[in-house]
Amino acid sequence: MTSQVAIRKCDDYDYARVTDAVHATLSSLGGIGAYIRSGQKVLIKPNMLSAKSPDRAVTTHPAVLEAVIREAQQAGGEVRVGDSPSAVFRGLARYWEATGYRAVAERTGVPLLNFEAGGTIARMIDGSEYHLARHVLEADVVINLPKMKTHGLTLYTGAVKNLYGCLPGFQKARYHKLYPKPEDFSRVLVDIYTCIRPVLTVMDAVFAMEGNGPSTGSSRRVGLILASADGIALDAVANRIMGYKPGEVHTTRIAGERGVGESDLDRIRIGGPGIESVALSDFVLPPTHLLRWVPRGLVRWAGRFLWVKPRTDVSRCTGCGVCARACPVRAIEMKDGLPVTDYDLCINCMCCNESCPEGAVYQEMSWLARRFS
Ligand code: SF4
Ligand code: SF4
Repeated sequence: MTSQVAIRKCDDYDYARVTDAVHATLSSLGGIGAYIRSGQKVLIKPNMLSAKSPDRAVTTHPAVLEAVIREAQQAGGEVRVGDSPSAVFRGLARYWEATGYRAVAERTGVPLLNFEAGGTIARMIDGSEYHLARHVLEADVVINLPKMKTHGLTLYTGAVKNLYGCLPGFQKARYHKLYPKPEDFSRVLVDIYTCIRPVLTVMDAVFAMEGNGPSTGSSRRVGLILASADGIALDAVANRIMGYKPGEVHTTRIAGERGVGESDLDRIRIGGPGIESVALSDFVLPPTHLLRWVPRGLVRWAGRFLWVKPRTDVSRCTGCGVCARACPVRAIEMKDGLPVTDYDLCINCMCCNESCPEGAVYQEMSWLARRFS
């Protein structure tokens, strides 16, 4: 069957406008009733990367979450919401609060699930075993709610990358350590997506994050809601809107090659405004995307001039040590109350950037990287 991606314009997070846009995208995909039957357990997975307020464009906006919850409830679904951010050892309560999800849960009567407390279920895929959140695998239906963002390691975070939060706790750091190269790590992400296979993906691209995503980039109005039953097709369309070339984002390409979904834009039916009319020519991509086009043998040489490194803004750092605990390769040591990074060990995974509660970890770019970003 041809994969379909529905796009609707939505200029801001006014709840009525978001509801209309979400409803219109789902209607053009056959309506929410085509995906949820009455009485089914529905797990909604937003992007709750950090305990940041919605205006920072780090997390899926609560208006989008609420609109999708209400759609699922109208179809008779028993809805719940869950995620496992990388610095979850600090406690989930502040995440629910800061992102606005607790208020949404109270308004809609939906429980917020702690993936760490729910245990895991093992799934094998291509010889690799993943211990995924029980809450996710025991749901009848999973709805994926990614935020459109750049990512320093994987270039892009969308439908596929958002499901990495279905791995509870420290497993996330373990896979970063085992697979430090972006392409290898992207295979893990595609494995996890394949294990879960959400029935629907609804992307918040009203405001996206450009530049140094996924945590410290800039908020950028894109003005769109995207939805699809095929998260790979949705990622392919989102990649085009952001300005990536076909095949440039590993997760989208690998998932397409494996037949997990459709990554070829020519084979995707796109509803709503034409993709060329909403594609952006000036969306700021992370500087690391330039390394993709350097011949393999020259990457190490080019890396001397074209680099991005995590640095700490000491004026914002509280010395909490979260970044050191989140670093999968123990490249960060706390000295005199401040984090010190060993760049020989650093694999540029951005876990410190993602997990810092103060937004004190930024990405410093070399002169050449700044020139091209
Ligand atoms: S950089 Fe952030 S996470 Fe690391 S110690 Fe400072 S405030 Fe904590
Ligand atoms: S220092 Fe930061 S970017 Fe480098 S490996 Fe550790 S967590 Fe990842």
